[in-house]
Amino acid sequence: MGKKRTIATKSLSILFAIVLTSLICTYSFDYLESLTYDARFRLKVFRHANPLIELVAIDSKTIQEQNGKITLQDYTQALDKIAKSRPSFVLSLISPTTFHASLNEKIAFNKAALKIPNFYISYDDGIMRGEEGKLILPHPFEKLQMLPGVIAFDQNNFAKDGVSRRAYFSIQDQEFVQPLIAGFYNGITNPTQYRGYFSFKDSDQIYINYQKPGTYSTISFVDLLKDNSSKDLENKIVIIGYDDKFTPEYYLKTPFTRDVVGMSKLEAQANVLQTFIENNGIVKAPQWINFVTTLLFALLVLFSVMNLSPARGILVILSSLAGFLLISWTLFVSFHLAIGMAQPILAIFLCYYFFIPYRLIQENKKFWELTQRNKLLVQVEELKNNFLSLMSHDLKTPLARIQGMADVALSSPQNLNSNQKEAISTIKQSADELTEFISSILDLSRVESQEIKLKLQSKDVNRLLEEVVQKYRYMAAQKNIELITEFETLFSVKFDADLMKQVFSNLIENAIKYSAEGTKVLISTEEHDGRILVQVADQGIGISDNEIKSIFSKFYRTKNVKNSQTKGTGLGLYLAKYFVELHKGHISVESIPQQGSTFSVDLPMDL
Ligand code: ADP
Repeated sequence: MGKKRTIATKSLSILFAIVLTSLICTYSFDYLESLTYDARFRLKVFRHANPLIELVAIDSKTIQEQNGKITLQDYTQALDKIAKSRPSFVLSLISPTTFHASLNEKIAFNKAALKIPNFYISYDDGIMRGEEGKLILPHPFEKLQMLPGVIAFDQNNFAKDGVSRRAYFSIQDQEFVQPLIAGFYNGITNPTQYRGYFSFKDSDQIYINYQKPGTYSTISFVDLLKDNSSKDLENKIVIIGYDDKFTPEYYLKTPFTRDVVGMSKLEAQANVLQTFIENNGIVKAPQWINFVTTLLFALLVLFSVMNLSPARGILVILSSLAGFLLISWTLFVSFHLAIGMAQPILAIFLCYYFFIPYRLIQENKKFWELTQRNKLLVQVEELKNNFLSLMSHDLKTPLARIQGMADVALSSPQNLNSNQKEAISTIKQSADELTEFISSILDLSRVESQEIKLKLQSKDVNRLLEEVVQKYRYMAAQKNIELITEFETLFSVKFDADLMKQVFSNLIENAIKYSAEGTKVLISTEEHDGRILVQVADQGIGISDNEIKSIFSKFYRTKNVKNSQTKGTGLGLYLAKYFVELHKGHISVESIPQQGSTFSVDLPMDL
């Protein structure tokens, strides 16, 4: 029944995990996903700049040294200097039309720009169908090559957080300037040849493999103007743009930072170009991988919540999550592969919060059942004790009467024939055994209800032992067993005489009971380290090693005596141990099977 139920629960939870995973995987959770995506960039340790790329930045130093303004003449001059060092490509993010200048100044710029064989101006607004004409600059710049170079940002789609993560290969078949330049180096002309290529709304795109801000080699525009730069631009791709750390429109948000002036478009263009040239765009893992990881996590959480202790469950979940994060990060850094993380993380939280209450309900039920069982046990125990003491008390009176009558009958033996005498002796003996048994049971119930209080009185242990030995002389003589006493003179100590008498009686009686005829029992006392030591040593049947631990337990009798004629309850040593310990004493035994046992009781001198 229980097994069936666990199988049913197991299949239900697996079904739950599959349904939940399928549900989660129908949504892409772009915002959450982009957070984990960006975090992977931020954790990048190494940076790598493509040595072909060189930036010329109109930075705050330039603005300051040029008295707050760059003119078209400055720009023309800079182009002349760049042309001299013969770069392979020059990509300008600044259009000459943005300057107020005279026609002559414009013509001069045009001339300087055309002197550079691969001079491109990046068009930084999105282009719409039918607007391609806009890409021809007005007179006198109509011969300059202007191409779209805008970097996509998540405004209305994907994460919708305004962060630039994607670069265009083309929109509506209009190729962008960065893949055009890259194609010169890697020979790729078809967007599908790019890693992680995807098409979205009439455009071909890839994910930019950003480097940490500050990765690229940069020359300040003013240093170029004043010939302060020693950098060689020969065969380089030079990108010219603004980086004044002040004007937000020269900047964009990247996975590294959403600061309004966090990364300049100039630097972002370098990242886009490098991703295209090196063809190392980020590849998003296919949806089935997300489904599998999500399902695995859902199952793991269900298993942990249902089967492990809460602390261990959390530990298992957290360490698996940490392992997963580490693997995803390694794949990202080493292979530019982005595994979906939002869905597995969500699966962990959802499963955890769905199943914790379920587990709590189950635990509660178990706890309730246990309490009920406990209550029942207490009641049964009470009933048992009441029954035992009632029965024992009620039995004691008729038993005493039987014993009395048997004594009377035996006191005038002349009236009985030998058969009758033997019968009455047996009745008397059985009645005695029954009385002893009832006393033990009564003692047990007193012990268990902790009713026993010590009645201490100062007494000599030797005297008490002599009384006990005297009592057992007859029993010993019947088995031809010699009781030898070796008593050291002792001071009187305080103890409960009745209880200790019962202890010593039990030990001596056992020694006689469990010894063969004609053996010896030695009862000795001595003072040892401020304690009184009483020993009862016999040459009897002994106790095996594996049973010796149990003989002080309630109702325990060793195997060899259980099958023999020797009567007993298995309560004597249990009570003896309890009584000795009430006196803050200690009882122990050493025994060799078939050779004999020695029971030792030690009692403190001052109680
Ligand atoms: P019982 O009424 O059976 O004697 P006890 O509690 O006094 O109960 O002893 C428990 C068991 O320990 C006995 O049944 C017997 O198996 C074993 N035992 C006790 N004393 C001795 C002894 N002197 N020699 C061998 N076995 C003993």
